[in-house]
Amino acid sequence: MEEKKNNPSKELREKLLLIRKNGYNVLSDEEIAAGFEFAEGYKSFLDSSKTEREAVVSALEILTAHGFREYKKGDELKPGDRIYKVNRGKAILISVIGTTPISEGVRICAAHIDSPRLDMKQNPVYEDNGIGYLKTHYYGGIKKYQWTTIPLSLHGVIIKADGSSVTVNIGEDENDPVFCVSDLLPHLANEQMSRPAGKLIRGEDLNIIIGSRPFRDDEESGAVKLNLLNILYEKYGVTEADFVSAELEAVPAFKAKDVGLDRSLIGGYGHDDRCCSYPALMAAAESETPVHTSVTVLTDKEEIGSDGNTGLCSAYLKYFIEDIAQALGSEGRDVLSASECLSADVNAAFDPTFPTVSESRNSCFVNKGVCITKYTGARGKSGTSDASAEFAGRIRRLMDSKGVLWQTGELGKVDEGGGGTVAMFIANLDVDTIDIGVPVLSMHAPYELISKLDLYSAYKAFSAFLAD
Ligand code: MN
Ligand code: MN
Repeated sequence: MEEKKNNPSKELREKLLLIRKNGYNVLSDEEIAAGFEFAEGYKSFLDSSKTEREAVVSALEILTAHGFREYKKGDELKPGDRIYKVNRGKAILISVIGTTPISEGVRICAAHIDSPRLDMKQNPVYEDNGIGYLKTHYYGGIKKYQWTTIPLSLHGVIIKADGSSVTVNIGEDENDPVFCVSDLLPHLANEQMSRPAGKLIRGEDLNIIIGSRPFRDDEESGAVKLNLLNILYEKYGVTEADFVSAELEAVPAFKAKDVGLDRSLIGGYGHDDRCCSYPALMAAAESETPVHTSVTVLTDKEEIGSDGNTGLCSAYLKYFIEDIAQALGSEGRDVLSASECLSADVNAAFDPTFPTVSESRNSCFVNKGVCITKYTGARGKSGTSDASAEFAGRIRRLMDSKGVLWQTGELGKVDEGGGGTVAMFIANLDVDTIDIGVPVLSMHAPYELISKLDLYSAYKAFSAFLAD
């Protein structure tokens, strides 16, 4: 038998070139099956957690089932303790106290649980030509035309005049009604279709239809609005004045579903950033006592710039770390300076239908694993935390040593646009920080797509980091 010839160029290629393979070609059948199983839990989380408040409630259920307790400043802490703290119902901090002194730093995993949507104005209810509506102000970066002619559900809270609170969730149950923003028929859209896409639907056109049946005993105008307010009064005991103290959010009413004949993808609303916050939550919930204390934060307000007391521009993460540092006998600032952070947020997956906006050598691709992003920002790296080569090297070694499927990617071509994450706000606390997350197709659309293997890779990455 002829001796197999060795192939020097093949060997050299493997040694010198960076080749990122499709996960289906490198992961074992067991791992792929585990990834698909993980996606089932994720889909239920997506369906029950369409707003930041609902994501906090879902997180609390999972954490309670995994032995976590609420932490209050001043509580004693010891290695192995599993704690959480909720910030105003819209963000949550989770920590597992490690075995090494906290002065050695904590491992922070940060993801956000708010997503683009339509928020109700403070005086939202009106009637126009026999149709009842809610006025909205969009939240986050959306293509407004995508939010018409899809079923919407209504979520949030209303604080009544007496201070009591009602929780609203209409449109998710199979038997619930849904709501909708109308669009113009093509037959009459000559003028509309000649506008630039950003003005096809204007902000003040995003009016949500909530009814059309007038209050029966009233012949006067406004009977539809009166009837709708009456329905709300009977259901929730609220009046029109109560909307002033409400946070009502309209989101797509679709359920998360497998996409594709091979079921390799998941379609759903709010993958950005639940496809990172769910893996981060599960990594924290399922973690054993780590070496370094872990801190997982699921934050609010990322989509509008992270300002406000539930966003990561506020001091709430810093205060939490200071509080647990103090309880364990260390200075908060020393702990922060020794800490590391994975800023867990999505990146734009290369879209073969729109290849020109990406630079394919530096894009992330569906099914090639969780994407490590050294810097985000726009116009010459403005508005980002550019991770150091040393920290990128440290995370790269960690991912490789734990067999995590990962890739790198930049958000689109230089000067094509850009975007930011919470990385810079945490890095600004003197924490080594790098961005990492799941590639998403159609990001910020009402129905986004991700890959199951990439989702699972994020879970493996966060688990490896929190345990380290
Ligand atoms: Mn995001
Ligand atoms: Mn986003």
